[in-house]
Amino acid sequence: TYCSSGLIPVTLFPGDGIGPEIAESVKQVFTAAEVPIEWEEHFVGTEVDPRTQSFVTWESLESVRRNKVGLKGPMATPIGKGHRSLNLTLRKELNLYANVRPCYSLPGYKTRYDDVNLVTIRENTEGEYSGLEHQVVRGVVESLKIITRQASLRVAEYAFYYAKAHGRDRVSAIHKANIMQKTDGLFLKCCREVAEKYPEIKYEEVVIDNCCMMLVKNPALFDVLVMPNLYGDIISDLCAGLIGGLGLTPSLNIGEGGIALAEAVHGSAPDIAGKNLANPTALLLSAVSMLHHLNLNEKGDKIQEAVLKTIAEGKYRTGDLGGSSTTTEFTKAIIDHL
Ligand code: ATP
Ligand code: MG
Repeated sequence: TYCSSGLIPVTLFPGDGIGPEIAESVKQVFTAAEVPIEWEEHFVGTEVDPRTQSFVTWESLESVRRNKVGLKGPMATPIGKGHRSLNLTLRKELNLYANVRPCYSLPGYKTRYDDVNLVTIRENTEGEYSGLEHQVVRGVVESLKIITRQASLRVAEYAFYYAKAHGRDRVSAIHKANIMQKTDGLFLKCCREVAEKYPEIKYEEVVIDNCCMMLVKNPALFDVLVMPNLYGDIISDLCAGLIGGLGLTPSLNIGEGGIALAEAVHGSAPDIAGKNLANPTALLLSAVSMLHHLNLNEKGDKIQEAVLKTIAEGKYRTGDLGGSSTTTEFTKAIIDHL
């Protein structure tokens, strides 16, 4: 959808802690790169909205539903009873069923690996996170892992669609179907069904333990990985570690009806909030994922290149990457590279 200005409306939640500072950095870089979007800023409310049972307001949710695309800074869930966590509210209300994390080595920022270029796609609505836990008898508890055909097909479809749209040639389904025969078995069955519709994309199945070993030995072996909720939680953080940590890792949540909500993986970093010290890279690269989702590939590539060049050059880096630049100095250096 375009507004009357001809610009694409995008919902922006600056968030808490360092959120407003890194969101400001994204806004400045986007303006400098002349990205044809218009931000619709939304803030977390100061009291619980009864319509969402959370500090996220109904109007905010409507904004994302209408625009179908948004960028979210870190949100610190206020303490106290009687409300839903902000992230849970967004995930449930917007039906964010897949979490997509592109992970690639940042040139010039040395880690153990320099050839990581993979994407993890995590099912985000069921599996071990169904919240169905109870005590059977004293000393015995039970947790239900729910796998449905509908949710498995949906995330598998997205993984293959993503692979094709981004010119990637392999999808690996990560599982433990040798033990979890019914649940992971169904997940794999759904992946296979979808794979048949994409003969041009190679499909393989990798047992999760073996996948961990391969990732640590040689992450270049992987391209697109798709998996149930809990495995995705663990593997996506493992992959973030391969490229230098959560501070650098972008993520994109895909919801029902084509909604995409990009967000940085890190938290609100209260220890450095308001001090102009935060690294905006993760939020910037999340915003780049969002541009690719919008098919604004040229703008996305240009911004990504400028961020990577700035980091590679090493002259301006924030404290978390061992430098001494402020958020604003680092942002200015990125803009100079555009
Ligand atoms: P929250 O409760 O919101 O998750 P937290 O206290 O867990 O906050 P995180 O945001 O998870 O803190 O961050 C953990 C550590 O990493 C902190 O020391 C923080 O300063 C640092 N950190 C996180 N994000 C960034 C960033 N973008 N730039 C620089 N440092 C960061
Ligand atoms: Mg945290």
